[in-house]
Amino acid sequence: MKVFKFGGASVNSAERIQNVGQIMNNWAGEQIVVIVSAMGKTTNALEKVVDAFYAGHKEEALRLFELIKQQHLTTAKQVLVTHYLPCEKQLRDFFTEVEWLLHDKPVRDYDYYYDQVVCAGELFSTAILSAYLKEAGIKNQWLDIRDIFRTDDDFRDASIDWAITKQKITDIVLPELNETKIILTQGFIGATDENESTTLGREGSDYTAAVFANMLDAENLTIWKDVESVMNADPKQFADAISIPELSYNEVIEMAYYGAQVIHPKTIKPLQNKGIPLFVKCFLNPALPGTVIQNKAVHHLPPIIVLKEKQVMLEMSSKDFSFIGEHHIGHLYTLFEKLHIKPNLTQNGAISFNCVLDDRPERIEKLALEASQFLDVQVVKGLSLLTIRHFTKQIFDKLTEGKTILLRQQTPETIQLLLQ
Ligand code: ASP
Ligand code: MG
Repeated sequence: MKVFKFGGASVNSAERIQNVGQIMNNWAGEQIVVIVSAMGKTTNALEKVVDAFYAGHKEEALRLFELIKQQHLTTAKQVLVTHYLPCEKQLRDFFTEVEWLLHDKPVRDYDYYYDQVVCAGELFSTAILSAYLKEAGIKNQWLDIRDIFRTDDDFRDASIDWAITKQKITDIVLPELNETKIILTQGFIGATDENESTTLGREGSDYTAAVFANMLDAENLTIWKDVESVMNADPKQFADAISIPELSYNEVIEMAYYGAQVIHPKTIKPLQNKGIPLFVKCFLNPALPGTVIQNKAVHHLPPIIVLKEKQVMLEMSSKDFSFIGEHHIGHLYTLFEKLHIKPNLTQNGAISFNCVLDDRPERIEKLALEASQFLDVQVVKGLSLLTIRHFTKQIFDKLTEGKTILLRQQTPETIQLLLQ
């Protein structure tokens, strides 16, 4: 049995939904759990609905939600004929759930409402896709994953209760898989024991798919993306980026740590624990080999490049020329935690501590202000942070030519450079 995950871009239009049908046709007769994200930018659009609702702008929230409804109904109409009416009914039930809530006044935490509203995106997309596949003759069973994935109530960042979820998979999913072969359900969402909807953190659908693969002891997981495979750099930044056919789990974790936007970092652990291979394949051209990620060291990797733009360096030094010690650094890390700041690079010297951060002006201002109580602080903006794994002198020279290197950190495998 296999697990597939289709991301938002793969179900973003009538043609894309039909394309998923063609891919599924290639796997006729196999047992597959299919995890699907919300269509395109639906999650972002739903976030705006929650914002308006929580700010007390009920009419605006309803208006924004109406646009999302119409988009989904239009897509459903484009891909469905015989299955349109039952699908529309299912969609309208989900719409009503959200609208009901939008008519209330917010009395609980923002994060609670966020999850109740934002979870709808995955319910909509899977309802349409399931109906389309049926119409195309691909038998499948739609499931509401909120009946299966039990989580705590840490809204927007909920953790899965593994024991209960595993039990539900055994009780609900396995019999369905034996009966219908293809199960279609949502990524990214779950529910508490009080049936409140939860979400697992943005881009969490890959993780849902990995948890499914783990609990079902799947043969493999395939993540269908709009890129041909995992590349050694972002092709939008480096036109000469190349495909990497094979990677180890560890390499992918390292890449994600340095900021490569390949796979959600939480995805790897559940697969690694059971040695389940992860395929990254292109839904636009399924014949391409893609990338396989597994528990096997891969030698001779090309240089892997991660370039983060819009970086800010905070240069902090002691006010009295004393060495930077645990109390300064402890204090700074308490501030990072309080302000939800994750430095991309830190470096300390005798009387200085430098950290490199994404440019979030509000947070940086707060950090600089608080740190200046006990350190001298200077802020330098407009920098880029370049990370190269498996670097060679040639690639180093090429990427640093004409630039000033402000900071440099190096291990045998990885070099990081802050460039101006
Ligand atoms: N739809 C969610 C998001 O956009 C989850 C996902 O796509 O993985 O963050
Ligand atoms: Mg996504």
